[in-house]
Amino acid sequence: MTRRKQIYEGKAKVLFEGPEPGTLVQYFKDDATAFNNQKKGTITGKGVLNNRISEYLMLRLAEIGVPTHFVRRLNMREQLVKQVQIIPVEVVIRNVIAGSLAKRFGLEEGGALPRSIVEYYYKKDELGDPMVSEEHITAFGWASTQDLDDIMQLSLRVNDFLTGLFLGIGIRLIDFKLEFGRLYEGDEMRIVLADEISPDNCRLWDLKTNEKLDKDRFRRDLGKVEEAYQEVARRLGLLNEGASNDVRTPQVVK
Ligand code: UDP
Repeated sequence: MTRRKQIYEGKAKVLFEGPEPGTLVQYFKDDATAFNNQKKGTITGKGVLNNRISEYLMLRLAEIGVPTHFVRRLNMREQLVKQVQIIPVEVVIRNVIAGSLAKRFGLEEGGALPRSIVEYYYKKDELGDPMVSEEHITAFGWASTQDLDDIMQLSLRVNDFLTGLFLGIGIRLIDFKLEFGRLYEGDEMRIVLADEISPDNCRLWDLKTNEKLDKDRFRRDLGKVEEAYQEVARRLGLLNEGASNDVRTPQVVK
């Protein structure tokens, strides 16, 4: 089989040229990295699960009017996406104190924040993704004030929607990271949600037990990493054998 031309290889995904101009194929690997590449490993089956989970969440978001780069899933590990110009800013949205926020301010993990916090990080591995402010982003020309306005509005909408969606399946959405891109259609430019939404870039805690169902199991050597990703997919209703591709319902947790 002739392989498509590879455009880019990241830590967890590979991008190939798509079948038509303006599209890309996003391939999900099982590779996992943490602490800016210092910790490396494999989570068996992660690529397959993240492909499904991200497909599901992007489709649900598109249904409520959030523009995304997602077109359709092609197979177990690949999805077709629209080619966008990625804005080099990682947007982190936090609902509960955890991770670097806890560390930076000496706070205990698990406390609910009185309001959601949105943070920006410059997407640059060599520099360890430093935190930046709107001032840096606009001054360095990574995004305009208007772009940032769109990004903030979309991020908060995604947060509200996903918080509710996960609550319905007994999961607390603690924090997550989003990436956005510019989609050019004729003379028009739109900011759209890009990359992926999966347990690789979300913190997901079981509502009752606070058990971690995300990449922290790998980062912190908590074990049962594969099982955690599977559990998220299962609760989203994505592991039902024989279920139709389109009609999937999240499992209500009693
Ligand atoms: N995150 C991510 N990629 C990064 C950094 C963070 O996907 O390069 C996600 C991470 O999974 C978590 C949220 O963003 O859900 C907040 O991460 P935090 O700043 O606490 O950093 P961490 O503790 O992961 O170093």
